[in-house]
Amino acid sequence: DSEPLGVRIEHVTKAYGALRAVDGLDVAIRPGALVALVGPNGAGKTTLLDLIAGEQAASSGRLWLGDRDVTTLAASARARLGVARTYQRIRLVPSLSLRDNVAVGVDKLVLEDRLPRLAERQRAAHADAALAAVGLAGRGEEPISTLTFGERRLVEVARVLASRPRLVLLDEPASGLSVAEAEHFATLVRRMHAGGCTVVLVEHDLAFVRALAEEVVALDGGRLLAHGPTAEVLATPAFQEAYVGVA
Ligand code: ATP
Repeated sequence: DSEPLGVRIEHVTKAYGALRAVDGLDVAIRPGALVALVGPNGAGKTTLLDLIAGEQAASSGRLWLGDRDVTTLAASARARLGVARTYQRIRLVPSLSLRDNVAVGVDKLVLEDRLPRLAERQRAAHADAALAAVGLAGRGEEPISTLTFGERRLVEVARVLASRPRLVLLDEPASGLSVAEAEHFATLVRRMHAGGCTVVLVEHDLAFVRALAEEVVALDGGRLLAHGPTAEVLATPAFQEAYVGVA
C-alpha cells in the first residue's frame, strides 16, 4: 500500500513519573495532511512524534495509523508501514558517503518487500535519484563529514524520500538553517507532500510554519490548545498567550 497514512491519537498520555509530557491527548491527522505541531518548550511535541513513530510507548490511550491500531506495535514495524522521520539532532553516519547514508532508505523498501532485492548498482541509482531530488546531484561519493549543516539536513530528506514514505515526521527541520536554506527545505517538503504522503513537522519557527503548514496542532503542557487552519490557530488568543516570550 502506498496511500498517505493518517494518524489517530485517542486519549493518549505519556507520563514520566508525575510529569505528563502528553496528557490525555485526542487528535486526528487526516491522510495527506501537511500539519505543524507547535507550542512552547516542553509542550510535548517531540514526545508526540516519538509516540507516533513508536520510539516511545504511550502510558495509556490508543494510537492508530490508518485503520490499524498500532498502540503496541514496535517502531520497526511502524517503519514498515511507511513511517519515516528525522530528528532534532541530525542522525547520519559521518564516515559514510552521502549515497550510503541515503541507501538506508532504499534498504528499508527492500525489507518491506516494496522493492525487489537490488543489485548494488540499482541500489546506488535509487539513492542517487533521491540525492538529485534534494539538489545534491553528483555528490553521492562525498563523505557526510565534508557537508555543511544545511546540506546534512538535505541528506536526511533524501533518505526519507528514498524510503517512499506514507507518513513523514520532521523534528524542527528549519532549526539552524539560513532563510534561503529554509525556503529550499520548504519547497522540498511541499514536493514530498504532493508526491503523496502525510507530513507532520515540529517547528518553533512560526514564519516557516506559516509558509509551509496547511494545518496547525497547538500543544501546551501536553494538552491540545487548538487544531485547525494555520492562520486561524496562530491568531487564537490561547495560542498567543502560550507562546508569549517564546515566539
Ligand atoms: P522543545 O520545544 O523544547 O523541544 P517539546 O514540546 O518537544 O519541547 P518534549 O521534548 O516532548 O517537549 O518534552 C515534554 C516534557 O516532557 C518536558 O517537560 C520534558 O522535560 C519532559 N520529558 C521529555 N522526555 C523525558 C524523559 N525521557 N524523561 C523525563 N522527562 C522527559
